[in-house]
Amino acid sequence: MKLAATQYSLQFRALEIYISGCDGFCDTINCKYINSGIDAARCHNPELWDFNIGSDSRDPIFLKALEEKIHQFDDLINYIFIFGGEPLLQNRKDLYDFLMTIFKYNKRVVLFTRFSEGQRNIEELYPLLYAIKYGHFSYELRSEDYVDYSLGFPMNLASINQKIVVINNV
Ligand code: SF4
Repeated sequence: MKLAATQYSLQFRALEIYISGCDGFCDTINCKYINSGIDAARCHNPELWDFNIGSDSRDPIFLKALEEKIHQFDDLINYIFIFGGEPLLQNRKDLYDFLMTIFKYNKRVVLFTRFSEGQRNIEELYPLLYAIKYGHFSYELRSEDYVDYSLGFPMNLASINQKIVVINNV
């Protein structure tokens, strides 16, 4: 599994980690709109579709740098957001091992997936996650003012088929 990038969100006090690789599902679902020239219906992260860009999730140099970053900004990081690409299309053991690695930092880990709740067998991941954001981007169901409060603060979600489910409220 490859990790393309990290960045910090001050708004959510979250370290964001971007996993490489997706099958472009949302563009397939939204092709009717894309083919009629609506660019807003396209995936916003097509550069992350390639499964081969970035650092290996087991690379000790990358993991050490990540650990240093988390320790250095510990007081500013309440959450770790796992974005894609699509995390649930990754090698499951690699994903599990990476989540286990970051679990020890004692942050609330939120995994963002385009799959719907129950679509993938991910119960083994539950102990390592605080919450999961489910659902693909549907242009047909898009909304600019759809807000989910499950994390305890407002988070805009792009279409009303999406939702956040808190798994371990600790
Ligand atoms: S799951 Fe994410 S990266 Fe994949 S097509 Fe949808 S929005 Fe794009």
